[in-house]
Parts: sequence; C-alpha cells; structure tokens
Amino acid sequence: MQKSHFDIWGSVLKMLRLIIAVVIVYLIYRLVKTSLLPSGKRSEKFPRRPASIEGEEMVKDPYCNTYIPLGDAYKASINGETLYFCSKECFEKYKRKIEEES
Ligand SMILES: [Zn+2]
Repeated sequence: MQKSHFDIWGSVLKMLRLIIAVVIVYLIYRLVKTSLLPSGKRSEKFPRRPASIEGEEMVKDPYCNTYIPLGDAYKASINGETLYFCSKECFEKYKRKIEEES
C-alpha cells in the first residue's frame, strides 16, 4: 500500500515537472516572440508614406470633368457652392461660362 502511494505521487510529480517545463518553455517562447516581433512589425503597422496617396477623396473638375485628389484641387466657391478645379485656369473658365449662361 505504502509503495503504491509513493508510486502515484512519484508519477504525479513527474507529470507536474513536465507541465512546469512545458510552461517555462512556452513562457520563454512568448518572451522571445514579443521582444523580437514588435520592432519588425511596427514599420508595417505605421508605414511612412504620405497620407494623401491612398484613400484620398477625389473631386471632379466641373469644367474639364477631370478627377483630382482633394488635396491638389483648386477650391473655389461659386454662388455659395464649393467647387473643385484641377487648376485656377479651369476655375476662371468655368466662372466665365456660368456668367455667360446666366
Ligand atoms: Zn480642369
């Protein structure tokens, strides 16, 4: 009886030691993973490119029907309406055209 009890505890301790070893290996693996990855992934997460290239709103030039990125457009207010042109030239031509029509 005494011996079988000892055997059970012996195998339990062996299993515990195995579990502890696995946990330690896992913790080391996580430590290495978290300390190595962030520096490599940070550049992917925050790419250093101009914010205006991707996902920028496109506006239409009502005079020549060209689409221009909002940041590059010539902004003008005509009759209380905000319009965007590819250039000041287009704005002036458009303004002239409107004045002729009205
Ligand atoms: Zn234009």
